[in-house]
Amino acid sequence: MMLKPLKSMGKAEEAVIIGGGLLGLNMAEVFSEKGLKAHILQRGSRLSPQMFDFEVSNFIKSKLEEKNVEVNFNEELIEIKGKNGAVSEVETSKGRRISCQLLIVAIGVTPAIKFLKETEVKTDKGVLTNEYMETSVQSVYAAGDVAQVYNSIKNQYLTYTSWASALEQGEIAGFNIVNQNKKSYLGVPLNTEFIFGIPVTSIGSPNPPDESKYKFLIKNELDKGLYLKLVLDNKKIIGGLLVGKAEKADLIKELIKQQVNITGYEEDLLEEKFEEILKEKEGRN
Ligand SMILES: Cc1cc2nc3c(=O)[nH]c(=O)nc-3n(C[C@H](O)[C@H](O)[C@H](O)COP(=O)(O)OP(=O)(O)OC[C@H]3O[C@@H](n4cnc5c(N)ncnc54)[C@H](O)[C@@H]3O)c2cc1C
Repeated sequence: MMLKPLKSMGKAEEAVIIGGGLLGLNMAEVFSEKGLKAHILQRGSRLSPQMFDFEVSNFIKSKLEEKNVEVNFNEELIEIKGKNGAVSEVETSKGRRISCQLLIVAIGVTPAIKFLKETEVKTDKGVLTNEYMETSVQSVYAAGDVAQVYNSIKNQYLTYTSWASALEQGEIAGFNIVNQNKKSYLGVPLNTEFIFGIPVTSIGSPNPPDESKYKFLIKNELDKGLYLKLVLDNKKIIGGLLVGKAEKADLIKELIKQQVNITGYEEDLLEEKFEEILKEKEGRN
């Protein structure tokens, strides 16, 4: 997604952005292109932590800094100060004051589910559904950002916040409402984001919480702007992170979705011509 400059940017020279997720980074890019100095305040020590690992976060941080965007980790907003009815500076958790004429808050979205609290529809962060998009109440379905869907690979209820996921879930809910043979949703989120023209793609679970349980295959060529990481759970891929090239993203998504046993192909997966190698090996077997 590419955001358009705000009309109200006026004569602003400095902007503070709370949150170094994808929206915050998009805003920083727009401000930088308009010649503003942007300051990102990010809780924790990694940009877009659901998507980037530390390696990629540091790479993107260096690209942002080249474009007059300051990235401040482990620093949060404490107070907003104003002058003449407009924001003039912020105070941070490190006691710093940053002058700004624009303040952006980009700290994520929360499903609006309060109206369901007194009902029998079970909720957690979102509306809980099984893999058929059915809620705890018969004939009531949920899909899209509001749904927290059971994922049988992870044995967890997960939210998926992208257009593609919302569309797929909506189609499955619609299909299941009118058909006896139900389709199930196995969400493998795939997001490609361009940051200063650099494509960064995350698929599935690129940063699982307990790293010691997984094997990571990494081809790090960030000096050339390229990075490919695959996360393996035993013999199956569960996540991927790509910088610079996104051609393999759909293939990786399918390997995750189909739960393909990749024994014997692990190292090949990092090769440029993986699909050709795969066909050649399959031809020999
Ligand atoms: C700023 C921004 C940028 C984004 N960029 C991207 C992107 O580049 N790529 C991408 O894949 N995804 C992006 N997303 C996420 C994407 O927009 C959502 O995942 C997608 O729109 C979800 O679709 P949905 O139909 O579930 O919810 P929505 O599109 O949010 O639609 C829900 C609608 O329901 C209405 N509503 C809420 N509560 C009620 C109620 N009680 N009664 C009646 N109506 C109600 C809301 O007002 C809204 O119109 C972005 C999100 C944001 C906020």
